[in-house]
Amino acid sequence: MIASVMTLGFVFLATSTSMATPDKPKKPKKTTSGVTASNLDKTVKPTVDFYQYACGGWMANNPLGDEYARYGSFDVLAENNQAQLKELVTKIAAQKNAPGSIEQKIADFYNTAMATGDLERGGCDPIKPELNTINNLKRGDLPEQIARMQLNGTTPFFAIFASADPDNSSMNIAHVWQSGLGIGDRDYYLDEDQQNIRNEYLGLVSRMLGMSGYSTMAGFKGREYEMAQRILALETLMAQNAIDKTVLRDPYQTIHKMTPKEFAEMMHPALITENYFRTLKVSTDTLNVGQPSYMKALNHIIEVTDFDVIKAYLAWNVIRSAAPYLSDEFVDASFEFYGKTLSGKKENRPRWKRVIDNIDDCLGEAVGQMYVKNYFPAEAKERMTQLVRNLQWALGERIKNSTWMTDQTKKNALDKLAAFTVKIGYPDKWRDYSGLTIGTESYYANVLNSRRFDMAYNMSKIGKPVDPTEWQMTPQTVNAYYDPTTNEICFPAGILQPPFFDMNADDAANYGAIGVVIGHEMTHGFDDQGRNYDKDGNLADWWTEQDAATFKEKAQLIVDHFNSIEVAPGVYANGEFTLGENIADNGGLNVSYTAFQKAKKEGQIKGEMDGFTPEQRFFLAYAAVWAANIREAEILRRTKSDPHALGRWRVNATLRHIDPFYEAFNIQPGDPMYMAPEKRSHIW
Ligand SMILES: [Zn+2]
Repeated sequence: MIASVMTLGFVFLATSTSMATPDKPKKPKKTTSGVTASNLDKTVKPTVDFYQYACGGWMANNPLGDEYARYGSFDVLAENNQAQLKELVTKIAAQKNAPGSIEQKIADFYNTAMATGDLERGGCDPIKPELNTINNLKRGDLPEQIARMQLNGTTPFFAIFASADPDNSSMNIAHVWQSGLGIGDRDYYLDEDQQNIRNEYLGLVSRMLGMSGYSTMAGFKGREYEMAQRILALETLMAQNAIDKTVLRDPYQTIHKMTPKEFAEMMHPALITENYFRTLKVSTDTLNVGQPSYMKALNHIIEVTDFDVIKAYLAWNVIRSAAPYLSDEFVDASFEFYGKTLSGKKENRPRWKRVIDNIDDCLGEAVGQMYVKNYFPAEAKERMTQLVRNLQWALGERIKNSTWMTDQTKKNALDKLAAFTVKIGYPDKWRDYSGLTIGTESYYANVLNSRRFDMAYNMSKIGKPVDPTEWQMTPQTVNAYYDPTTNEICFPAGILQPPFFDMNADDAANYGAIGVVIGHEMTHGFDDQGRNYDKDGNLADWWTEQDAATFKEKAQLIVDHFNSIEVAPGVYANGEFTLGENIADNGGLNVSYTAFQKAKKEGQIKGEMDGFTPEQRFFLAYAAVWAANIREAEILRRTKSDPHALGRWRVNATLRHIDPFYEAFNIQPGDPMYMAPEKRSHIW
């Protein structure tokens, strides 16, 4: 959870195409248009509802299965990757492996997680020792206990992690961040219209306190519901003092550096003492506290809350984070709330899918190394490298030709662009898992060991230089990211497949899909957050006052537009919260379109194909990435918690700002897709 990292998030396309394995010679294929006719809904005009026109066929052909809250062309791809990982993992799980080898770890992890008989017999035994420790706590033990739980991967009250120093991006320092809300976003605790969610949450907490045996242990058996209410009251106090997610978008609001001594002096001794840092094994002279007002509020909260409630809250954190890895009773109760109530899913995903995802989390680079060896062709990396270069050129041209920036700001922007680090496919240096113990004791024990291993690794970075070779996503991930502190863009092997990237398609479609993804990540370096960082990843203002003011005016057009979009009856998109992603989509489209037009001039793009001009194919390929069906509960959840706009609006709202889109589909004043030029935002 590196808070400063911005990612593309979710994305998608239509058919699930396996990638050729590199050792098999590939037959040359006929170049395709990249547009799949069955994805379209030709009963709707592109000038009326472009999303429905471009994706309506896909949506009709891919109804939502019960295990999904949202299912899109992007999920098809992610599931394809998952099936490939399953093949690799089950082969290893069936063979005899040398003790301590990476294969033994993968095999034991998988087999233990799939042994449902053992899981049922175990019930909640695997978490009993942790619950016992909590039950026996004295007030003075709290700082040490919080540290122990953080080392176990849970974050009661707040989180601590290593990340770059905003003033010296080549060094890692410790960051303290608000955390510990069981439902997630603070709005769930504070909005009047979320009472139903809070009621369901009370039911979950009270059930789990009983099921886990904690209420018996702590002597409140029969009064679990009352205790759940007191835990909710505690979390509500935390939520009232938590900083809103839109405020956190401004990096200057989250920089409050101090020494550990100053931090300890700021905090109540019941929360932070020297023992806290000693338990974490962290010795550092600098610490950044993201939200000091929240941390100070904890001082008061800890005073007014009975210690038995604090202990029950800690126990609840352990139970909640362990539930998916215990017996069915726990898995189901957890799914009932987090899957059904919050997201509208009807049934849980099959166990093997959950387990493969978890192996991805716990042993991600180990299976990633096998994944790229089997499924990532070298040609894909070469072609992608070229595409990134073309996009870098295009953004440079657009900055040089920009009509609203002064020469000074342009120069700084170009310097930043030239300094980008580009990562494609997979890391050059792989993570070493030799210190991680995975065995056959229990599924939860393996998860806990992995969390401890990760957290110890993260803590070991504090006070040390940032490792520029490290990746923040595994190679099999269907996603991409930009990190402002390292000024790097990264495209894992998992995303370099159709519908994003098709080796056999004409490049008009590739520019519309993966080209926009590349442009999107580049633009993050210049969105409302990224523009505050310089070429070396340090927080620094490199803008003239005038240019900064114009940027804000242009960004405000996007904010206002998205704030006016009704995503569900009476519910509106959050223009401020999604601003960075919307600027990135806007810039991504413009930059990739410029690169595409250059390729067209150079004769690299075919003329009309399947009845579509190259420009039409570009925009259809862009929309195809977002084809998806989604449940209403998930629309509401994402509107609260996802900094990306919903797929429908990443198409229909974002494209309304792109002038060439109007030309490509002859959209005229009076057409529903039309938006007046003065409302369109042109930034990058
Ligand atoms: Zn993004």
